[in-house]
Amino acid sequence: MLSHENNASVDYDVVLIGAGIMSATLAVFLKELQPDLEIAIFERLDRVAAESSDAWNNAGTGHSALCELNYTPQREDGSIDISKALKIIESFEVSKQFWSYLVGDGYFSSPKSFINSIPHMSFVWGEEDVDYLRKRHEALQTSHLFKGMEFSDQPEILASWMPLVMQNRTESEKIAATRIELGTDVNFGELTRSLFNHLKEGHEIEVFLNHEVKSLEQDEMRHWFVKVEDETNDINKTVRAKFVFIGAGGGALRLLEKSDIQEGEGFGGFPVSGQWLVCKNEALIAQHHAKVYGKAKVGAPPMSVPHLDTRIIDGKKELLFGPFAGFSTKFLKQGSFFDLAFSLTPHNILPMLSAGIHNLPLTKYLIEQVMLSFEDKIEALREFIPNATESDWELAVAGQRVQVIKKDEEEGGVLEFGTEVIASADGTLAALLGASPGASTSVSIMLELLHKCFKDQMASEAWTAKLNEMIPSYGKHLADDPQLTHRVRQWTHEVLQLNHIGILRNSGI
Ligand SMILES: Cc1cc2nc3c(=O)[nH]c(=O)nc-3n(C[C@H](O)[C@H](O)[C@H](O)COP(=O)(O)OP(=O)(O)OC[C@H]3O[C@@H](n4cnc5c(N)ncnc54)[C@H](O)[C@@H]3O)c2cc1C
Repeated sequence: MLSHENNASVDYDVVLIGAGIMSATLAVFLKELQPDLEIAIFERLDRVAAESSDAWNNAGTGHSALCELNYTPQREDGSIDISKALKIIESFEVSKQFWSYLVGDGYFSSPKSFINSIPHMSFVWGEEDVDYLRKRHEALQTSHLFKGMEFSDQPEILASWMPLVMQNRTESEKIAATRIELGTDVNFGELTRSLFNHLKEGHEIEVFLNHEVKSLEQDEMRHWFVKVEDETNDINKTVRAKFVFIGAGGGALRLLEKSDIQEGEGFGGFPVSGQWLVCKNEALIAQHHAKVYGKAKVGAPPMSVPHLDTRIIDGKKELLFGPFAGFSTKFLKQGSFFDLAFSLTPHNILPMLSAGIHNLPLTKYLIEQVMLSFEDKIEALREFIPNATESDWELAVAGQRVQVIKKDEEEGGVLEFGTEVIASADGTLAALLGASPGASTSVSIMLELLHKCFKDQMASEAWTAKLNEMIPSYGKHLADDPQLTHRVRQWTHEVLQLNHIGILRNSGI
């Protein structure tokens, strides 16, 4: 389909920029909903899923608000707001349904290659935080979606849940934790690779590696002309598409700016880099079996909450602690130090400055994190594993995140920690900015995009029927429907080979 002559113009129905989990999910949706669509994907690196979606670049948490305390803020009156938590858990249930459908459709050799049951725990210390965790637990127990979560401040119970964390602690320490078996660890890199492999083999999509998209422009016919550099052969090409998705992760902001759509004006990006401590001691790795999330420090961005995680990466059990945040001007791990400077435009310079002024605690936090030595990081780990020794751990660089900065009437510019789908009014282009809660919610985010850009098709009987088949809870709220929750969990946990018995026992339905 793609001509190899300079500046040749060819037609695709859909061009996806970037081969991460987001483009993979959108490509699957589109091919399942309309198999005759001609789709091309352009990726600047020599393999798919090598940026944020790679297992070592993210934390692999199937975000469901089972352990992440930032989704349950405390109100001024002391009560706990669980509305965000309900949204996140529903969204992950949607992802599990989508992946279960794909298992049945032959996308994966085994679901265990990308998703595994790992208990999710929240762990706090100090009177105030223990009180918060108790209240959070009580508040979450009002929803059937969180049934099965246990709270304890008893040392012997905590020791049975997380022996490594409880070693060498004094009885007088005020600590508490919650634990739920429903949690998962997801290898989003493997998931992405499996989706692309299946799409290439069974659905005839074209994936062009070593192809960097340089710019894009729309003509009066509303077609997009996408300029691509083929880095292997050192030639430039132009392809024409009816619809373009900028799923370029950290590279998305720059391309959105180049598209010149009005809806993209005023957005800026603030890069946050990360590092993990990775355990090298097999005996320690074997002793821990949970994702244990702590509480964020003052000024810390929500996604920088420290956690001690059992991971299953390429079939092997691993133990990671972090992420430690940092600052780099790169927007992609394999990007350029000029990324931040090149992202500045007359439309976003004020929002960027204003967001900087309004987020001084974050700036202070990042400076402190950058200054941490290896020994300081081990000291931070000792809050979780009191016995931790330097020789058991090494540092690894995590993926790069670009937090969204948005124009704001009152403040000039605000820093956002979520994701944002930006679509042109004519529905021919969409971009995804931001990185949290990220890959776990890729299915809901892509559904949102489809609703924005494929309105008529999404309202059609054919697409609605297919979506209902793929996602039985499509269009419904699991938070309002315990029976449906029970049914979809029974199905997804059986198909994805997750902790099935525990779910049935704990569902309380
Ligand atoms: C430290 C860290 C921890 C995280 N933890 C979690 C977690 O526990 N759970 C969770 O759900 N999410 C987590 N996330 C978020 C999650 O990793 C991301 O939301 C998700 O991977 C984003 O997928 P994507 O497809 O948008 O981007 P990416 O996976 O980054 O893919 C974008 C692709 O676009 C390519 N590209 C960029 N520019 C161009 C161009 N001009 N032309 C062609 N190709 C281009 C890139 O090379 C890349 O391959 C974490 C992220 C980080 C950094």
